[in-house]
Amino acid sequence: MSNTDPGCIFCRIVAGQIPSTQVYRDDRALVFNDIHPVAPFHMLVVPIKHITFLAAAPEATEPVLGHLLRVAATVASQKGIEAAGYRLVVNQGPNAGQEVDHLHVHVIGGRRLGRLG
Ligand code: 5GP
Ligand code: ZN
Repeated sequence: MSNTDPGCIFCRIVAGQIPSTQVYRDDRALVFNDIHPVAPFHMLVVPIKHITFLAAAPEATEPVLGHLLRVAATVASQKGIEAAGYRLVVNQGPNAGQEVDHLHVHVIGGRRLGRLG
C-alpha cells in the first residue's frame, strides 16, 4: 500500500490540491462534505493514506479502519445528527456504485432515510 496516489481525487483533497469543505482532520483521517449531498448532512470519512478497497487493506490497517468508524461517530455527534440517527455507507465495487477508489465512509443524516436498496 503506497501512502498516496497522485491520480486519486481523494488523495489530492487530502493534500489540499483540490478544495473541499473540511469538517475534521487528524493524523489518520480527514472528513469533508460530499460535493453532491444526498441528505442535509453528507460527509465522507477518508483515511489520510491511500487505501483502495477493503479487500486490498492488509491486517495492519485494522487500527485505521476502526478509526474511520470512530471518527464517523465523532463528526455525527458534532453535527448534532447522532440522536435522530444517521447512516454509514461504504461502497465497494461497481454493483455498489463506487466512484472513487480511495476507501471512504459516507456519513448521511439530517432527514429520515429510505430503506436500503
Ligand atoms: P462512492 O460512490 O465512490 O462511494 O462515493 C464517492 C463520493 O465522492 C460521491 O458521493 C461524490 O459525490 C463524492 N465526490 C466525488 N468527487 C468529489 C470531489 O471532488 N469533492 C467532494 N467533496 N466530493 C466528491
Ligand atoms: Zn487516494
